[in-house]
Amino acid sequence: STMLEVSGLTHQYGQGERAHVAVQDLTFSIEAGQLACIVGPSGCGKSTLLRCISGLIEATGGSVRLHGDEVSGVPDDLAVVFQDYSRSLFPWLTVAKNVEFPLRWQKVSKAERTRRAAEVLEAVGLAGVGKKFPWQLSGGMQQRVSIARALVGRPALLLMDEPFASVDAQTRGELEDLTRTVQRDLGSTILLVTHDIDESVYLADRVLVLSKSPASIVADLSIDLPAE
Ligand code: ADP
Ligand code: ADP
Repeated sequence: STMLEVSGLTHQYGQGERAHVAVQDLTFSIEAGQLACIVGPSGCGKSTLLRCISGLIEATGGSVRLHGDEVSGVPDDLAVVFQDYSRSLFPWLTVAKNVEFPLRWQKVSKAERTRRAAEVLEAVGLAGVGKKFPWQLSGGMQQRVSIARALVGRPALLLMDEPFASVDAQTRGELEDLTRTVQRDLGSTILLVTHDIDESVYLADRVLVLSKSPASIVADLSIDLPAE
């Protein structure tokens, strides 16, 4: 079934002489369970597109539908992982408290929050670090914590904005493998934005290639790998 439907999406920053069209008339859809990458040059509008999908900014035109429903505001069955993990974790909370944080806004008991935080920390390979603080962890581990926090609410759609751009090459490989494991084992639908075409082809079932700004989709590739 279709998870995400983006139709005629347009976003313009500013008005009048300062107006800048960052995304113009983009249309595509993502199937449930897919790991799709959007790849395109720096400045082509990838972050703007993700911000519109996640409801962080309101698109100036077009529509976004999440399993059939029009998205307005920030939907709670969608989670985002940003490039800059060092600014996205709360430094005064332990890793476990960071991870369970999104559940505070849902009707989930304290015991259940603790259990689910431990469960996703284990899923991202961080069993046992719940009591540490983010600054006690390496950059790669902090980004794992961000991924765990995004997954704890069991989102229908996980958006990732250049999630591996700030980590070293070895950590990037580990996080790429983690992302594929999450998709396979949890059945997550993932839309990941990157400027790195190598990364997109390595990771994704599907690669949408954008041209320079304002972007249009210049290729839509299915990556079919033989079963392992
Ligand atoms: P990408 O993520 O592909 O690098 P962005 O979505 O960040 O691209 O930016 C697309 C275009 O919109 C760029 O030309 C950028 O300078 C511009 N832009 C991004 N954010 C803003 C903003 N808040 N105000 C004005 N222009 C912006
Ligand atoms: P990325 O390529 O990682 O998306 P950018 O360098 O395009 O990052 O943008 C970094 C930050 O600066 C973003 O928050 C974006 O909204 C803002 N930004 C980018 N271009 C402009 C612009 N022309 N005017 C105002 N803000 C901008």
